[in-house]
Amino acid sequence: MMRVLYVSTEVYPALKTGGLADVNAALPQALTGMGVDVRLLLPGFPAFMHAAEHHGPAVSLGPAFGLGEVSVSRALLNGVPVYLVEAPQFYGRAGTPYGDAEGRDWPDNHLRFALLGWAAARFADGSVGGWRPDIVHGHDWHAGLAPAYLAARGVAGPGSVFTVHNLAFQGQFPGSVFPALGLPPDFFGVRGVEFHGMVNFVKAGLHYADRITTVSPTYAREIQTAEHGFGLDGLLSSRAGELSGILNGVDRAKWNPSDDEYIAARFDAVNFAGKAVCKAKLRAELGLSPESPGPLFGIVSRITQQKGLDLLLGAMPELIAAGGQLALLGSGDAAIAERFRAAALRHPRQLAVRLGYDEALAHRIIAAADVIAVPSRFEPCGLTQMYGMTYGALPLVRRVGGLADTVRDADAGAIAAGTATGFVFEEASASALSRALERVFALWREPATWSRLLGTAMRQDFGWTPSARRYVELYRELRPRT
Ligand code: ADP
Repeated sequence: MMRVLYVSTEVYPALKTGGLADVNAALPQALTGMGVDVRLLLPGFPAFMHAAEHHGPAVSLGPAFGLGEVSVSRALLNGVPVYLVEAPQFYGRAGTPYGDAEGRDWPDNHLRFALLGWAAARFADGSVGGWRPDIVHGHDWHAGLAPAYLAARGVAGPGSVFTVHNLAFQGQFPGSVFPALGLPPDFFGVRGVEFHGMVNFVKAGLHYADRITTVSPTYAREIQTAEHGFGLDGLLSSRAGELSGILNGVDRAKWNPSDDEYIAARFDAVNFAGKAVCKAKLRAELGLSPESPGPLFGIVSRITQQKGLDLLLGAMPELIAAGGQLALLGSGDAAIAERFRAAALRHPRQLAVRLGYDEALAHRIIAAADVIAVPSRFEPCGLTQMYGMTYGALPLVRRVGGLADTVRDADAGAIAAGTATGFVFEEASASALSRALERVFALWREPATWSRLLGTAMRQDFGWTPSARRYVELYRELRPRT
């Protein structure tokens, strides 16, 4: 049986700041279903310590990173075995996994996440209950040092896979922190963890892992270019043979309009009437007018430059003038959020903005919306456009990353062929978005065609099984005999 140590920081529902948590809840379960012995290694954040069912005593790994004692305990989370790194001085803090309640990064993040990678490598020695993984699979920069610590052992060990969920987050620290990481001195170099004099955790993962994956085929190509590579495009191109893109999926146990406890009425592609109930209820809840000549747009998003919501602000006058409505749920950049709030004050019957994080409202918006807008500047995979299609909301997206891979534009050919599932625009500008909006409104005036697109979108299968199978194939490439 293939043994995989899956190293990450967020798992829905215990702890979520973005799509990574959804992936980490679904993918390990899908892998388990394929007969892989997958176990998660997580920092012992309070949210995990509370949510997990603990089993047996913790195993001591001794002192590390200035801590007198680090231990690892076994537990179950979402029914999947997990190991929790117990280091309360590092992990037992309020706030997000990465910073304080005001969003400031913790000053010792290099040590907090070095510890995670170091603990992962200790499994290779059989230090944790003798369970030795065949594969160590790290996710994003927080786990970036795991392949480096494995390489530093200097003896054959588990194969390593590193998955980039978002290359924008790299875990960069001053070069002066390097000695505290306990890696061999020659690891601080261009062929190592060093990046322009800094320690870069993502670069460590990209350099030392046996295989690199990211979360869509298009993003795998994009990150090899200067435009999307954040300076790591050269390294990524040099490893193109070991780099692949595997799409994320939709966890149908959590995102399914025919069985969703959060929404006002259930529906599916055949029994679609419930969607209108969801829409009416949401409009009432948010104070939006009960009627509008245009579609209801929904947005559920982190508010950052990445997500391109400022482009939508630029196109807002057209959206309003054409009689559209917009329900936005988001959190993040205060300046962009404030502009949406100001617009909502001017048009309270057409535009509703809710700031903060609210899982139930996210479901209600996606279930009610006719269009789900994801105008991202870059998007490694994106989940909300897939959730939208599943819930009968046509995506309006930019042609980047996973958005390009999951949405088929409603051009004349695709409409005729019955393959169209949404609206795709090219350029990251308000005017390109406005032109796409015109196409949305034009199609809205053709209800029969709109319904056909909805049917096609709702029938898309974004299940996790094919992607989980690709990961298993990748593991087998590295360890053929297990
Ligand atoms: P990213 O991981 O870049 O934030 P994804 O589209 O991959 O983007 O995943 C975002 C996830 O976070 C989705 O599950 C989405 O529903 C959820 N989400 C984003 N913002 C909010 C919010 N303010 N409240 C509730 N859920 C949110």
